[in-house]
Amino acid sequence: MTPADMDFPARSRAALAQPTLQRSLQGMRRMMPALRSAALAGLPDHAALRERARESRDHALEHLGHYLLEYERRVVAAGGVVHWARTAAEANDIVAGLCERAGARRVIKSKSMVTEEIRLNEALEARGLGVTETDLGEYIIQLRGERPSHILAPALHLGLAEIGATFERHHRRERRAPLTEAGEMLVEARAELRAVFQAADVGITGANFLVAETGAAVLVTNEGNADLVAALPAMHIVVTGIEKVVATLDDLGVLLRLLARSAIGESLSSYTTLVHGPRRAGDAAGPREFHVVLVDNGRSALLGTSRQEILRCIRCSACLNHCPVYTAIGGHAYGSVYSGPMGAVLTPAFEGLARTVDLPAASTLCGRCEEVCPVAIPLPRLLREWREDALRGGLTRPAERRALRLWQWLATHPVWYRFALGAVVRALRLMSVPAPGGGRRLRHLPWFGQGWFAVRDLPAPQGRTFQAQWRSREP
Ligand code: SF4
Repeated sequence: MTPADMDFPARSRAALAQPTLQRSLQGMRRMMPALRSAALAGLPDHAALRERARESRDHALEHLGHYLLEYERRVVAAGGVVHWARTAAEANDIVAGLCERAGARRVIKSKSMVTEEIRLNEALEARGLGVTETDLGEYIIQLRGERPSHILAPALHLGLAEIGATFERHHRRERRAPLTEAGEMLVEARAELRAVFQAADVGITGANFLVAETGAAVLVTNEGNADLVAALPAMHIVVTGIEKVVATLDDLGVLLRLLARSAIGESLSSYTTLVHGPRRAGDAAGPREFHVVLVDNGRSALLGTSRQEILRCIRCSACLNHCPVYTAIGGHAYGSVYSGPMGAVLTPAFEGLARTVDLPAASTLCGRCEEVCPVAIPLPRLLREWREDALRGGLTRPAERRALRLWQWLATHPVWYRFALGAVVRALRLMSVPAPGGGRRLRHLPWFGQGWFAVRDLPAPQGRTFQAQWRSREP
């Protein structure tokens, strides 16, 4: 993360002022919860399935070493090679080395958040390789030199006009009229990418899951581009996090039943492919070399800690789609490839809390994220833990620390607490104004909550504290 990436308040303000992003987020707030609810309503055993999903992820994480070695054994038996990368730099070096050894010039990729996390494209381009993203959203933002704003819909922040203008700028074509139709854009992107697919030397995908029982890397997409990336070039490299392993195909089945329903409100994604290794004798197609790069990059440090539970995440994006903060500011404000509640828990683990201290604070702790998470990750608790660490480590703002110290002192001195609260309640009553429907409302405060009062008001207090009212209540 750069210093600009870390300025969460400034990036949030910028996001709130972007009309296209705000329109997309409004659509997301309206559609995604309804789609998810409808899809899960068709699952009679949703609660039991969720519990099984949680258990299977926990089991794999408790025995991570065992299942990763089991997975490696299966891959090697199928003719593939597994590489272990402790850091982002190591992972990038391994992938670049494989490409160079293959004499590759052109690399195609399908969407993978891990490769975004380790900035693989930049590393490969720095070594002279041409890299093309083939997921439509990723392709668009690659042309624009941007990063994903959502883990499943990377170009969520863009409207048709911006995408059309991007294609007009980058695709060298004769045009009689501006590009405005989504269908035309799709056809054009497909035509551009077709040639890239055919010329590619190496294909790089992520993996939604790795199955230890069979050695499968599981690719889940809606566009089918990952299948072409995996099958057409002479070398296929899977780059994924070590936490993606599951024990059995049965476990995979449970997770797949929840993944697409939680993500996009569909019972299954359009393409679910299990890749097992290089082309075998007699196969009509497939890569001649198959490599899997297992990336740690901070994950194993979470094992055995109270934050291990975030490693259950299957990147479905439900917590983003339901988060009142994410759906107000979008993903770029977080300054990290992982955004929303899961990003606010994961990014401090990967980047350090000192650089990301605003992220765990960017939550109302309403609990919606935990409610919709298909693997029941206790996101609010994990966010609170980061906040406690920030406070203990002196990372919070001085004004916040002073306010908390004052609150702590008042809370342990009841006489002063009652006196201070009574004064505040009377002052708030004096500052309130009559409301049209009766009663009184607070419309602004001179020293606090300007952002809040810019768009909403509050009912005024009665003029007496709750404790005073309680004492004088009718028996
Ligand atoms: S934390 Fe849960 S809801 Fe959020 S992306 Fe991960 S699995 Fe989905």
